[in-house]
Amino acid sequence: MKGVEQYWNPILETLPREKLQQLQLKKFQNIFKWAYEHSRFYHKLYSEAGIEPGDIRTFDDILKVPKIEKAMMRDIQGKDPFPYGDILCVPLTAVTEYRQTSGTTGQPIYQADTWQDWEGGAEAYCYALYAQGYRDSDRLFVPFGYNIFIAFWTYHYAGEKLGCEVIPGGVLNTEARILKMQELRATAMGATPTYVLGMAETAIKMGIEPPKDLFIRKITVAGEPGGSVPATRKRMEDAWGAKVYDQAGSTEIGHWGWECRYQCGLHVNEAFYLAEIEDVDTGELITEPGRRGKMVITTFDRLAQPCIRFDSKDVIEWSAIEKCECGRTFRLIRGGVMGRADDITKVKGVLLAPAAIEEVVRAVPQLGDEYEVVVTKKGDIDDITLKVELLPKCKAEISAIRETLTRELRTKTNLRYNLEFHDYGTLPRYEVKAKRFKDLRKGD
Ligand SMILES: [Zn+2]
Repeated sequence: MKGVEQYWNPILETLPREKLQQLQLKKFQNIFKWAYEHSRFYHKLYSEAGIEPGDIRTFDDILKVPKIEKAMMRDIQGKDPFPYGDILCVPLTAVTEYRQTSGTTGQPIYQADTWQDWEGGAEAYCYALYAQGYRDSDRLFVPFGYNIFIAFWTYHYAGEKLGCEVIPGGVLNTEARILKMQELRATAMGATPTYVLGMAETAIKMGIEPPKDLFIRKITVAGEPGGSVPATRKRMEDAWGAKVYDQAGSTEIGHWGWECRYQCGLHVNEAFYLAEIEDVDTGELITEPGRRGKMVITTFDRLAQPCIRFDSKDVIEWSAIEKCECGRTFRLIRGGVMGRADDITKVKGVLLAPAAIEEVVRAVPQLGDEYEVVVTKKGDIDDITLKVELLPKCKAEISAIRETLTRELRTKTNLRYNLEFHDYGTLPRYEVKAKRFKDLRKGD
């Protein structure tokens, strides 16, 4: 299946690295100049740092550009024009889309887009869907509401742009969505890993076996690390009899990374984004594979409210694979987004990524899909509890399961846990994004 027909944009997706980097530098210079000249916020930020458009001549110069982060947005949004503040680079009359972040802490961040920005987001997403085998013969089901969150809006628009038939499954409840998918023989859907597993659980209760009774063969997941956690991916693929592809993005950035059919990591869409990885503690730029850090990202084509060197706090690492079998030259991230720098917290002095716990729990077939991690402090000592659900038919195996979990958690995370076994179906279920990691030391 190699050849032009596997790329949405055969030229940009296979551009030699050197040319791609020239293009990225040019696009960075353009967006930097645009923001400097059109946004009072950016102009002030860069003036204070003593940097102006003519100063960006090489990739190294980009590192001199001050980073921005979410916390700054809250101050910006208190200023004119309402409600976006002086980061806005276009007149308010040019704004056609409003979205906001769905973060669980603090005030949401408002995101403005022009029609051109919005259309550009759909175009970037088409690269992903096409790489995952979506074609105009597909019938997409979108199980999300008409909402202020970005969720799967771009999936919807990209599906249309690609020529697929798009079914908005918004106001229906889970049961009705499953029945509609069955009735219309939908072939693909986009959802969070939590909801993909939750829907399968509901279908089974309704007497519907997704692999046999439904027609979904491709699922694109986003919003949580699960799509790149092998054990979670296997659970989703087994539950639906479908291929599951991971996708990374956020409200402020857009959809910057995705898996192709060969699934050896997330390709960064380098035609639209510049992704840098930096050391969480020292801020040093990481270019080599295998070293984790947080992503600093620039959106090249979003004109209303550009993200220039935005500290995303997404923890990622470069892959050692230099050339994917698909022939794309876009660089690969190994293992997807491992979590947020804020969530990757120190417990008993050890760095703990929640995705590592997920991999252990979901690889034990006698356990349900849900789990919860609670970190507390007893005196000066951190205490970590893992709550899991035991499948009803597996109650007799509890001591063997306890042993496996203890051993695997030790190996994968270097920590010891209090294990709590709960009855199947008793831990909280989530509709969209799950909140399974609770750090009570911070009063979270
Ligand atoms: Zn590839």
